[in-house]
Amino acid sequence: MARTVTDRASGRPTSGRPTSLLWFRRDLRLTDHPALLAAIEDGEVLPVVCPDDAALAAGELPRLRWTAAARSLSEDIAAQGGRLVVAAGDPEHALARLAARVGAQRVHVTRETDPPAAARDARVRERLAADGVELVGTGTPYAVGPGLVMTKQGTPYAVFTPFSRAWREHGWPGPAPAPSTPPWAAVPDDALSDGEALSDGELPSVDDPRIDPATLGERAALDRLAAFLVDDLARYADERDRPDLDTTSRLSVPLRHGEIHPRTILAAIDEATAGWRDVRADAAEKFVTELAWREFYADVLHHDPVSAWEDLRGTLLDLPYDDADEPAVARRVEAWREGRTGYPIVDAGMRQLRDSGWMHNRVRMITASFLVKDLHVWWPVGARHFLDHLLDGDLASNNHGWQWVAGTGTDASPFFRVFNPTLQGTKLDPSGEYVRRWVPELAHVRGKGVHTPWKTDGAYDEGYPRPIVDHDLERREALARYEATRR
Ligand SMILES: Cc1cc2nc3c(=O)[nH]c(=O)nc-3n(C[C@H](O)[C@H](O)[C@H](O)COP(=O)(O)OP(=O)(O)OC[C@H]3O[C@@H](n4cnc5c(N)ncnc54)[C@H](O)[C@@H]3O)c2cc1C
Repeated sequence: MARTVTDRASGRPTSGRPTSLLWFRRDLRLTDHPALLAAIEDGEVLPVVCPDDAALAAGELPRLRWTAAARSLSEDIAAQGGRLVVAAGDPEHALARLAARVGAQRVHVTRETDPPAAARDARVRERLAADGVELVGTGTPYAVGPGLVMTKQGTPYAVFTPFSRAWREHGWPGPAPAPSTPPWAAVPDDALSDGEALSDGELPSVDDPRIDPATLGERAALDRLAAFLVDDLARYADERDRPDLDTTSRLSVPLRHGEIHPRTILAAIDEATAGWRDVRADAAEKFVTELAWREFYADVLHHDPVSAWEDLRGTLLDLPYDDADEPAVARRVEAWREGRTGYPIVDAGMRQLRDSGWMHNRVRMITASFLVKDLHVWWPVGARHFLDHLLDGDLASNNHGWQWVAGTGTDASPFFRVFNPTLQGTKLDPSGEYVRRWVPELAHVRGKGVHTPWKTDGAYDEGYPRPIVDHDLERREALARYEATRR
């Protein structure tokens, strides 16, 4: 039953047009937002978030980052005269109750395809349908929605390069037009007074040193994009593998929470690079290819949800891993988590993750390789740790990134490619700057000697640990296990 809703500021009834709900999840922005436009077509829009939703993020830190971004969104909505409803409890019950209170016939969302989110949406759809309310999905967090790029035979792509070619050929629309101020519905006071299921609570303020308030929200994401295009894009192809230079876009975190849509990024790149004919054009192309990896992994996970936590390809199912619960192995895994392996580039990466909630892409590969091929531990143990600590933690990109390293995923780097942490460090952090930044016990060591403390006088003076394993021996051990599996 529709209710009369009064505007809180004026006390007057609002227009009486049907009110639909817009449920924000991984789309915490107000521009380039097709689901918002679809909701506006229904009339007044009541924006809502469900912070108790277990599917919001796979790990603790991305959840916290989500909360901080949602607070920023609520401020943006308030600046337009609206009010973001914070609905407590399971989304299916909270939304059903709120829809009934305000007489909404539809709940609009951006469609999500990762397995926990898709399962949640199936539950919500069913619960709402019982009350005659429709869950309407419009758009996705991707330029091309998962499932849309298929081979000529109608099967999903299993390999990245042909996928990325077909993805470009498929193309994507430009950014969705920005609505003039959306017709935010006023919130009826009694809709929020049900202590059990709905609360008019504020989203808690987030005070975590890893979350920089200056990086939160849609405005900050657009500013980051603009700065990247001007300062770093032209050098991207040359410098993207250098953790010491820090010239990648850092857009993974706003992308994860939908503070920016990839369409907006792709359109801005087209515009910024229109006149580029030289090596800078290759750099831009390389960057677009990285965005395609994000889309590819989402597509793979959509078609094969079980691959979130199991080997995608069965070729290494017999590979014997060490049991991460066995005390000696558990101690080594703990040293890896805390950045005390005695391999400087590995420890710098793991401490960057722990202390800042982010890690450089190449270092993600090196640290992942170390867990799987030097410590012989199955990749989900590391993937779980990353998801708990990454601000950009994303099931598809993370778990398929891990499978790429472990040799079990699609397009996998072969298992016998074992990253040598010392050579990688010396090559990609040539002055040792990155290691010194994150490992204080090595801050006194000058130059690239920081990557070989066992050969550098005085390197252990400040308590840096000795290597917990011998890389050359463990590399041989990993290859022996691999060969035995192949036989
Ligand atoms: C083991 C491992 C775990 C990873 N976990 C995640 C994760 O949880 N979340 C996440 O967003 N990325 C993950 N990545 C991919 C990549 O490391 C990050 O996207 C990148 O480091 C983010 O920094 P940036 O935004 O500065 O990247 P840029 O180099 O500026 O790239 C631009 C964007 O392209 C996308 N992208 C770049 N590289 C990849 C890639 N290899 N796979 C998928 N997308 C990519 C990201 O959206 C990124 O923001 C993982 C990679 C590995 C090897």
